[in-house]
Amino acid sequence: MLERTEAGRLANRWDSKTAEPMSEAELLLYRSNLLGADKRVTNYGGGNTSAKVMQKDPLTGEMVEVLWVKGSGGDVGTIKMDGFATLYMDKLNALKHLYRGVDFEDEMVGYLPHCTFNLNTRAASIDTPLHAYVPQKHVDHMHPDAIIAIAASENSRELTRQIFGDDIGWLPWKRPGYELGLWLEKFCLENPGAKGVVLESHGLFTWADTAEACYSLTIDIINQAIAWFEKTTAGKQAFGGPEHTALPATERRRIAAALMPRIRGMVSGNARMVGHFEDGEAVLEFVCSRDMEALAALGTSCPDHFLRTKIRPLVVAFDPGKPDLDATIESLMSSVEAYRDEYAAYYERCRRDDSPAIRDPNAIVYLVPGVGMITFAKDKATARISAEFYTNAINVMRGASGVSTYCGLPEQEAFDIEYWLLEEAKLSRMPKPKSLAGRIAIVTGGAGGIGSATARR
Ligand SMILES: [Zn+2]
Repeated sequence: MLERTEAGRLANRWDSKTAEPMSEAELLLYRSNLLGADKRVTNYGGGNTSAKVMQKDPLTGEMVEVLWVKGSGGDVGTIKMDGFATLYMDKLNALKHLYRGVDFEDEMVGYLPHCTFNLNTRAASIDTPLHAYVPQKHVDHMHPDAIIAIAASENSRELTRQIFGDDIGWLPWKRPGYELGLWLEKFCLENPGAKGVVLESHGLFTWADTAEACYSLTIDIINQAIAWFEKTTAGKQAFGGPEHTALPATERRRIAAALMPRIRGMVSGNARMVGHFEDGEAVLEFVCSRDMEALAALGTSCPDHFLRTKIRPLVVAFDPGKPDLDATIESLMSSVEAYRDEYAAYYERCRRDDSPAIRDPNAIVYLVPGVGMITFAKDKATARISAEFYTNAINVMRGASGVSTYCGLPEQEAFDIEYWLLEEAKLSRMPKPKSLAGRIAIVTGGAGGIGSATARR
């Protein structure tokens, strides 16, 4: 059944007493942490928040409007005050005169540091224009599963209208960047009564005049979507209904433990990988379902999702009705090789003249029918986060396929984000992995004093 009683509605956790003494910047931080604390509101590291605040210019002493917006990297749930970039609004507006059109939008990122207010060293993110050009003072951009499920439906425009009426508009898919910022501004000017907009294949924008109103609106809009899905999908089976019964928990773990070292050996050619196993309710429902293979092949939709999970997962040949672990292990190598070949073909089909070189062609996500999901990444935390992201993607497919036809992002769009030069620049700025990263150590006597101290280190 598609109904999920435990999911329920998001609670409005704004506390007026706590918020009362706060400055505008502190209110932005408070709102961001509240929103990011619930993964149904936005995925890890996904989305951003902003406020336009009047402040004294340290150079002229005059009051100027400053955009506070989540900076590059970081997560709204755990962001601290130094995670926000601060930029002069008048300079951001002046950038419009320098804009040479969508083919040159990436160069606008280079101008953002020139707009910095108060020598703030936090780099502004590529989403900055999306916040700057919405005229309202407070703007939330979130990646809620329930909204992306609408945004990734074939008829997302009609669904948005049906659920939200005139309150929330809709914009077609556009890679985040300067052009999308101008689209949002145009939308706001043409629709002064709108409270937000659904971005196709991406997420939600909401805006308001105060921090509290913006927070409450974001929560209300997501709850409206959750309620609509509950009503519309009541009594329907998710993912075409079950094809397999999930194996018992101990058996699932035994099979994962047998598969993971094998897969690790096969995919650690370029760099050592560490695995993570996940068999929560949402994952099990998906890997046991009739439509799993077909949906998995369509790939994920929200750009944040596939940057962490690759465009699609690898489905391991395993039949939980007639488990034959030896046969599965024997088939693994050819599945892994087929995945690499497909990935290389995708790269060749979509590459542009200036695309960065092909990256690790191995799958990140491995779906095992009746058992669960295994993810591999450079360290345990990244592998766990990839699993979290694919779980978000499962929730999105569950919603979209329950009310419409689910659509992944078009392949070329996905490639252009995966191999975006700005994304490549971000990767090249990442610190070099530490010498033991990706390695697994056995500490003898790990329960004793020196042994446990060694293990912790
Ligand atoms: Zn986004």
